[in-house]
Amino acid sequence: AIPLVVAISTTLGARNGLLVRDRRGLEEARGLDAVVFDKTGTLTRGEFGVVAVATIDEIGEAEALRLAAAVEADSEHTIARGIVREAEERGLTVPAAAGFEALPGHGVVATVEGRELRMGGPALLRRFDLVLSGSLEEAALESEDRGQTTVFLTEGSKVIAMFGLADRVRPESREAVDRLHAMGIEVVMLTGDAEPVARAVAGDLGIDTVFAEVLPEQKAETIRSLQSDGKRVAMVGDGVNDAPALVTADVGVAIGAGTDVAVEAGDIVLVRSDPRDLPRIVVLSRATYRKMV
Ligand code: ADP
Ligand code: MG
Repeated sequence: AIPLVVAISTTLGARNGLLVRDRRGLEEARGLDAVVFDKTGTLTRGEFGVVAVATIDEIGEAEALRLAAAVEADSEHTIARGIVREAEERGLTVPAAAGFEALPGHGVVATVEGRELRMGGPALLRRFDLVLSGSLEEAALESEDRGQTTVFLTEGSKVIAMFGLADRVRPESREAVDRLHAMGIEVVMLTGDAEPVARAVAGDLGIDTVFAEVLPEQKAETIRSLQSDGKRVAMVGDGVNDAPALVTADVGVAIGAGTDVAVEAGDIVLVRSDPRDLPRIVVLSRATYRKMV
């Protein structure tokens, strides 16, 4: 049987936007040493807008966007949504793509009008040993300096365009970090995004420990390494790539607006997608389990 106080807390939580899927998660939350946040879609809104485009001389901006949107059409990644939205807003006609395939943590690949194209971030460039021409490199560095996420359109061994996308930090994130710190809990950021972007967002939020450019399969490993330092760890995430880490953590917390896979991997779901619900979970857990023997 469920102790009454736990049942009450679970109900109370639900009324306040905390959906407890596994009560053990709620119980473990009272003794947390560290909360690990995914960045994109968790601390940030995860809604990317294209704010910079650079291309090699052979093609123009519109052409680059048209091709990029075609490659990204079948991707659910927030970056892909931003690219497709920009093409729509510019009134571009996006051709159909064939052979679409996602390369998790790297990007996507597809064939458009007979051209084998890829779209992805810095990790994609490294994976295929692709180098940026002088002007694209300059544009990418400038975007990164501004805290933008950079993705690249490539054809064969050539990088043909760079897109800078900006995400917005959730206004609630700063308060969530401050409250957790005030409770003596360490706050960590864990992201697949590039180091400079991760540093910029972490700096804004007062997060001191950052793991960037982490591949999806390494996210759970990072959680395990924190645990082997003797820490009790919560992971908060929204993406398919966060699911293994959510399962590995002592407390897995899924963003309600996130993917189904993440929601199913979480012990607790933040229905309002508000990071401030993390300190609330700790308070609720402490109150609930203090009353029990
Ligand atoms: P995060 O941890 O930030 O949610 P992911 O692991 O999903 O990130 O992706 C890591 C990186 O891989 C992204 O920051 C981006 O550079 C690249 N990437 C992944 N999917 C795509 C895509 N559909 N289009 C372009 N780039 C992508
Ligand atoms: Mg994410």
